[in-house]
Amino acid sequence: MRHTLTDTFINHDRIQSLLEGSHTQPEPSRVEDLLDKALDLKGLTPEETAALTRVESPELVARIYETARSIKDTIYGRRLVLFAPLYISNICHNECLYCGFRASNRDLGRRALNEAEITREVEALIRQGHKRVLVVAGEGHDAHDGLDYARRAVRAVYAAGERADAIRRVNVNLAPMSVDDFRLLASEGIGTYQLFQETYHQPTYARVHVRGPKADYLWRLEAMDRAMEAGIKDVGIGPLLGLADWRFEVLGTLEHARHLEERFGVGPHTISVPRLEPAPGSAMASSPPSPVSDEEFKRIIAILRIAVPYTGIILSTRESSEMRRAAFSLGVSQISAGSRTDPGGYTEDEPGGEREACQFALGDHRSLDEVIRDCARLGYIPSFCTACYRLGRVGADFMDLAKPGEIKHHCDPNGLATFLEYLLDYGSPETVAVGTKCIEENMARLPEQAAARARKMLDRVASGERDVFC
Ligand code: SAM
Ligand code: SF4
Repeated sequence: MRHTLTDTFINHDRIQSLLEGSHTQPEPSRVEDLLDKALDLKGLTPEETAALTRVESPELVARIYETARSIKDTIYGRRLVLFAPLYISNICHNECLYCGFRASNRDLGRRALNEAEITREVEALIRQGHKRVLVVAGEGHDAHDGLDYARRAVRAVYAAGERADAIRRVNVNLAPMSVDDFRLLASEGIGTYQLFQETYHQPTYARVHVRGPKADYLWRLEAMDRAMEAGIKDVGIGPLLGLADWRFEVLGTLEHARHLEERFGVGPHTISVPRLEPAPGSAMASSPPSPVSDEEFKRIIAILRIAVPYTGIILSTRESSEMRRAAFSLGVSQISAGSRTDPGGYTEDEPGGEREACQFALGDHRSLDEVIRDCARLGYIPSFCTACYRLGRVGADFMDLAKPGEIKHHCDPNGLATFLEYLLDYGSPETVAVGTKCIEENMARLPEQAAARARKMLDRVASGERDVFC
């Protein structure tokens, strides 16, 4: 029976028993042992992770945060990769009760951007300084037309702009497809294929996905297997926090990551941590069935950072600027900025305004320049780097490089060079002042070899070269 709960790598009984067996607080000495072990950067087992989700004492939660910060710093340094979502269509046949795009929301203005409109949107993003885009769409076409439309959209994004002033990596967040269709999508040169399971808890999944192709839990759960079978090396997973018990979602995410690692030798490239936000016409979005508090949200990020140390964690503009700041230090390595969640939003919206055709409400309305200035002020290096993808360091090759901490010798110089590019080409005078100081401070922290490499790259950018990477 394909649709029984126990048939998949998400074993509900096992997860439930790990969580139930854990109603009591773990002993402080056990938590300390786990956190010491985590510093070896080998991740944690589901049992160990379940124990961390139970910790409530403020002292031990503080120790979890400290460990997450240390792991984040060792593997990712102070870089924060920036990207913009590009909503190309809000037409959708599905009925996800939490989403503004769901089919029964008759008040929503619907559209699928054509190629000329996509090009205009991308040009607007390029003018802001973006280099990485995440293409997002509702599931509004049948499988064949949907794939065809998505492929044309990816091509239009790559084709917009001029050589160095162009989008250098296109990731996608699109409905799941067959292996053959994933192969065709891969042939367009996409970066990461991203898809959120929303909830790993199947009964909850059935309750909130009431109609349409997305109602099939297994078709979605197995999407990453099909994507990787089709040769897509980087995949991004994530739960939509607020639908089911967050502890179940953390363990589900971990089991998903472990399953991919076991089967393909490499786990997910990224984990996203979207939290349910109010959405037009959705009562559930304003009143989540299992709300996640700010404090719990920080714990989720920290525990994921500790349990899956080499997987990037993505935070979107769903969160407020205050929460984003806290999350950076606990483990987040990629953020979106200056986002719009309505098709056409970058060229047609009033500055600072919110449109009715958006998918959900944004928590952070600042421009890319403001977000960059804030990150730089906090000492982070805003990075637009796409070097790994373009040099073929993806999937297992990326993880092999990442694991011994080697990646830092590439990522820090690449991050600094792309940041300088941004400052010279797009930065406001205020951001240039803050950013220049941030670059020098970070240069002083680099080991000798990486600093020498970074200095050479910064000099090349300063003298007018663009798209410099190693
Ligand atoms: N339609 C495709 C799908 O559902 O997989 C891809 C695009 S969908 C717009 C991207 C993601 O938006 C969903 O996977 C869901 O996690 C998220 N989302 C939907 N409604 C949301 C809400 N109210 N708050 C936050 N995120 C939401
Ligand atoms: Fe459609 Fe995706 Fe929104 Fe569900 S989450 S209604 S599939 S756009």
